[in-house]
Amino acid sequence: MTAKNKELEVHVVASGSKGNCTIIRSSHSAVIIDVGISCRRITNALQELEIPKHIVEGIVITHEHSDHIAGVPQMIKQMGLPIITRPNTARRLMDKFSLPTECFQTLGAKEVAIGDMVLQPFSTSHDAVDPIGITCYKGQTKAGLLTDTGMVSKEMLEHLHDTDLLVLEANYDEQMLIYGPYSPELKRRVKGNAGHLSNVTAMKVLSALRRPKDMEVVFAHRSEQNNSLHLVEQLSDRLLDWCKAQGQEEFTAHHGDPKEYTSIGISYDI
Ligand SMILES: [Zn+2]
Ligand SMILES: [Zn+2]
Repeated sequence: MTAKNKELEVHVVASGSKGNCTIIRSSHSAVIIDVGISCRRITNALQELEIPKHIVEGIVITHEHSDHIAGVPQMIKQMGLPIITRPNTARRLMDKFSLPTECFQTLGAKEVAIGDMVLQPFSTSHDAVDPIGITCYKGQTKAGLLTDTGMVSKEMLEHLHDTDLLVLEANYDEQMLIYGPYSPELKRRVKGNAGHLSNVTAMKVLSALRRPKDMEVVFAHRSEQNNSLHLVEQLSDRLLDWCKAQGQEEFTAHHGDPKEYTSIGISYDI
């Protein structure tokens, strides 16, 4: 059987506590999700990934933590793109960077058309003013992004069923966090319902999702202090073995990196 032609590409440009940036593109449009790295790195990524600047429709901000917004002022200045986010997050950004309201396009609960793609935001559980995850559709292809959430509710799972291309947080290993260098208060914050997703929880989410054929996953936002690539790989290999044994749909695992690009969904000709 031939693989389904994917109509979206997802490029995780940078991932981790030092800065996050992901680009979702179709043949005619692209959207940048979070700009927690410098504008120069993002424009370099667009060039290296051969994404024409004129097809980029806007910048979606999931929440106001600095590892997701550091590049906002420079990106507005250089590319003049609208910042697409929840009203309360927009207000925080206006105050922080002294930006006018004209720079923003607000997101409600409903889906919005961005170029030839449809974006559907959904609420997550994180210590920010109104944090969101994203799903994005084009034709038969669905992409999703869920990072920076302390827990995954039924509603969040509903949004992520049948996602072909998924960016999913696998932030920390529980043992490494417990015995690691963080203060007790910070450990509680990371582990809490408004913190981050552990490796084990990420695997549980993935096993609970209805998975389409040829699903690709990028495990993202990996902590440098409280996690290792090896541990995430070990768990995802174990989950894959379980999927095989159960006769369930498998997935291809990729891993986000602070500096290297991780691209999925690149099976079609643009
Ligand atoms: Zn973050
Ligand atoms: Zn955050």
